[in-house]
Amino acid sequence: MCGIFSVTGSHKKAGNKVLSGLKKLEYRGYDSWGIAVQTAKGVVVQKDTGKISEVHLDLPEGSKAIGHTRWATHGGVTKANSHPHRVGKVTLVHNGIFENYAEEKARLVDHNFQSDTDTEVIAVLLSQAIEEGLDIKSAIRFVTQKIQGRFSILVMIDDQPGIWAARKGSPLIVGRGENETFIASDIPAFLEQTNKVNYLDDDELVFVDQGTANFFDLNTGKAITKREITVSWKVEESKKGNYAHFMIKEIFDQKETIAKAINHDNQAIADFVKALKSSNGVYMVACGTANKACMVAEYFFAQISGRKVNVVSASEMPYFEQFVNDRTALVAVSQSGETADVLEILERGKKSGAKILAMTNVESSSIARLADVHLPIQAGPEKAVASTKATTAQIALLLLCAYADSSTVNDFEKCLNRGRNILRSTAGNINDLLNPRYESYVKAVAEKIVQHDNLFIIGRGALYPIALEAAIKIQEVSYIHAQGFPAGEIKHGPIALIEAGTPCLVLGNDTEIIANATELKSRGAMIIGIADKDHELFDEWLKAPNCEEGQAIATLIPVQILSYHLAILRGLNPDMPRNLAKSVTVK
Ligand code: GLU
Repeated sequence: MCGIFSVTGSHKKAGNKVLSGLKKLEYRGYDSWGIAVQTAKGVVVQKDTGKISEVHLDLPEGSKAIGHTRWATHGGVTKANSHPHRVGKVTLVHNGIFENYAEEKARLVDHNFQSDTDTEVIAVLLSQAIEEGLDIKSAIRFVTQKIQGRFSILVMIDDQPGIWAARKGSPLIVGRGENETFIASDIPAFLEQTNKVNYLDDDELVFVDQGTANFFDLNTGKAITKREITVSWKVEESKKGNYAHFMIKEIFDQKETIAKAINHDNQAIADFVKALKSSNGVYMVACGTANKACMVAEYFFAQISGRKVNVVSASEMPYFEQFVNDRTALVAVSQSGETADVLEILERGKKSGAKILAMTNVESSSIARLADVHLPIQAGPEKAVASTKATTAQIALLLLCAYADSSTVNDFEKCLNRGRNILRSTAGNINDLLNPRYESYVKAVAEKIVQHDNLFIIGRGALYPIALEAAIKIQEVSYIHAQGFPAGEIKHGPIALIEAGTPCLVLGNDTEIIANATELKSRGAMIIGIADKDHELFDEWLKAPNCEEGQAIATLIPVQILSYHLAILRGLNPDMPRNLAKSVTVK
């Protein structure tokens, strides 16, 4: 996780530019922050706990600087543990985990460590290697060979020009400006200055100085050439506009994002489906919310194209990897395209000869670049930690793939268009939900349940994984204990938790789920129905228009709005929930 960013330029404003760029990476981690500026009088470091967005500083002048916004993995959230770490002439920031740091640290008995982080061990090793006479490039190569785990680092050396960066597993992108060069974990950090980028791949090293960038293979040290890419993201897309928070802006963005999924390129979907059809086993691997989108797709594929797909949480997939071979299709779904657990499965799957199919929102992400076939989700930048528009775009795209998969020899277009028509009417219907009137209606329901500490959600069929996703959404932004269940399961245990007034979200109003909702109501539950029509059993009703298979999307939107307002009513910042970060680049 964490965001790292460096600026080297012909001007003297590197420190302040790093500060403003880091604020755009805050979604990657917001436990603490730190910036080091190379000034005429030496390196000046400012760091502290808390959110970078709340920092207002005028940093000293200097033509190069590095910075970090942290999501702690090793060592508590303290000022001492914040990056950058300085040892001897080395100033370093790190994204990732040095898995074997304790072993290396145990050997460094003479060093007086200032922090509990794994990162400081890298800085010590690097400082020692340089003191022992290695040039900087060789020292970085020597030390990074020792690191087990995924990482990216930025390094400045006192009295030496430029900035060095190395990548193995965690994202790093070089931005090419006019007489200045940036290196960041993500593009928004420098998008206001340039949209010309080079993506660093694993096992690559780069040296940047003012307007230049030289790339090397981290293993051999040999120079390599990288392609320059112009990214199409617009600065405005990464801004909140008139909305109070990114989360609500991104919920409202769904007016456009579902429509974008409808227009997805036929050829990419055809390639995707061809790979499914030629496989003899499909595993869908994802984490968190994306995993719930895959679970929805499991129902789509079963019911629309008659295909059994295996949905496995990426962190659990190692227990099933014996079944992955050169006839397997591994489908990875990830908003960021950097999810560490997913990447590891794909890397091993590729070695076993499996076909890698990916859906990511960040188009040049590590997962996208590893894939044999990539379907971009095209939801635009998603900044709030709680995923909303990327989730529904994933579901929409997976629905199209299931319809395309139902085709035989000559009816690909016809089948795909069936899916498109469903999404078209879903997109039209959800426009009725994404307006201030509906939002205030949902807010009024949030006011009625905000005092409760427990909440349950039930659904059937494709709405069962939506119940699980609803629980994640409510938990992560409002900290209410929320749990989703298959509706038929509640009487096998969870119903014991129901007390007078316990709020229960019931997704749908068909006869079977109403029977389950009646069981809850008989134990005193407060029933909030999310369905196309009201029902006498519902104490509260949130309309979710009837959209055939698009119902999964239409049902999720009221839940997203509800979660947002529960967070606001509890005085929380929905964009930055405690203990979380947007892209989970550590295992
Ligand atoms: N492992 C490092 C730390 O805990 C970096 C964590 C990160 O990637 O945010 O400081």
